[in-house]
Amino acid sequence: MILDLIAVCSNAGMEEDKDVHIDMDTFSSQLGVFPIIKKEPFKLHLANVENKRLLIQGELDVTVSIPCDRCLKDVSRTLHLSIDKNIPLPQSLEDCADRLVYGEILLAWPMKVLCKDDCRGICLKCGCDRNKVDCGCSQTIPDPRMAAFQDVFNKFKEV
Ligand SMILES: [Zn+2]
Ligand SMILES: [Zn+2]
Repeated sequence: MILDLIAVCSNAGMEEDKDVHIDMDTFSSQLGVFPIIKKEPFKLHLANVENKRLLIQGELDVTVSIPCDRCLKDVSRTLHLSIDKNIPLPQSLEDCADRLVYGEILLAWPMKVLCKDDCRGICLKCGCDRNKVDCGCSQTIPDPRMAAFQDVFNKFKEV
């Protein structure tokens, strides 16, 4: 994201609306790397507060591709981000603005992602997609260690 902030950063009381777009094509976190499949340019409202702090406000939607917790099929999720920050006046906002958006995506990240509410997931015995194939395997898990496997992605998200 490139922002020309020289004016608003050097004039006390100045307010400005900027059209911005995010450069990020992927979102990486501890959970992995997720493609950003849709993002719209958005407006950022900037206000210089007494030449000491900068008020940054804006709203945007980004659509991210996230694997289903149960069957790993890619699911697109639109995250609504609302930025409302009051930060020390930065020298340059280029990195800062990207970090803000990154932080907001992290906050908006869904705890649970399912391709459909009743996704049947992947068979723990034969590995087939149980939404497509009725493999007939019994889903009782003989080895308790395998049970931990089932919701391993949820677990990551709850950390
Ligand atoms: Zn699924
Ligand atoms: Zn099976």
